[in-house]
Amino acid sequence: MKKIVVILTGGTISMYEDANSKSVKPHLSNPLLDKADEMEKMADIIFETPFNLPSPHITPKEMLQIKKIIDRYLEKGGVDGFVITHGTDTLEETAYFLNLTIETDVPIIITGAMRSSNEIGTDGFYNFLTSIRTAVHDQAKSKGVLVVLNDEIHTAKNVTKTHTSNLSTFQSPQYGPIGIVTKKEIVFHYQPKLESKLSIKELTKRVELVKAYAGMDASLFYYLSQMSIDGLVIEALGQGNLPPMCLPGVKALLDKKIPIVLVSRCFNGIVEDIYAYEGGGVQLKQLGIIFSNGLNGQKARIKLQIALEKTNDLKKIESWFHE
Ligand code: ASP
Repeated sequence: MKKIVVILTGGTISMYEDANSKSVKPHLSNPLLDKADEMEKMADIIFETPFNLPSPHITPKEMLQIKKIIDRYLEKGGVDGFVITHGTDTLEETAYFLNLTIETDVPIIITGAMRSSNEIGTDGFYNFLTSIRTAVHDQAKSKGVLVVLNDEIHTAKNVTKTHTSNLSTFQSPQYGPIGIVTKKEIVFHYQPKLESKLSIKELTKRVELVKAYAGMDASLFYYLSQMSIDGLVIEALGQGNLPPMCLPGVKALLDKKIPIVLVSRCFNGIVEDIYAYEGGGVQLKQLGIIFSNGLNGQKARIKLQIALEKTNDLKKIESWFHE
């Protein structure tokens, strides 16, 4: 039997609903552990519970804690896969963080649930089970960190939470899932292109994220230039443009040598220096802003945080954002 390490971190998958108020909250006992016997028919399982948090409470500290648990087992050897259960709100950030920082062929699956353990139609135990099935599957190897929910397998790089409450919330806009889970099989459609791994021990850099909007001016950028930040990600308009009134603030940040990465607030496509009007991509690129290659804002932020642990060389950072 394959050996799987299950890391329980909290989220709706580990919560209960109060029948009267309909509110959902954590509990002292984890409902997934009640099903341990069933899981143990599929794999030899080691449970780790480093913390039990709703995912809006997850910070880089907890992401590093999960990474260190995985690194420890990988160093020892003898483990065939990892399944992490996590709240869905920030699941994509933890998944992408692990994807960028752990170098291994061993499957790492992350899952969650939209309905807590005692709700009608709960998806928690089902997603947990299909994640174990995926983790023990031979073809799950060498695919980076995978997100498995609702019978779909997504890459950490492309997946995002798209719906506040629907079970099919996790989607990979533009690319789709890389595989599906059926009653009998796990079917992979293609092999994802993997990004360079950036090994880090700590996450110490402060990177902020702002979203552009019609009529935005320089104020927020000026405030940010007064704060001690190490980097900024801007979710720009369309193909990578900003309202011209933002520019003095953006320049104030660049004058302070704060690296700025541009992504689009559109959830399909990549940013490029196409428009040559004031505030357009051509000018932004000339100013020294790094254009990213299709990541969403929250993932570009994680990547910039990690990249800044490795180097301050803008050319090097830019090359990572073009992968
Ligand atoms: N708010 C919850 C969390 O992220 C949602 C979930 O787990 O699905 O912890």
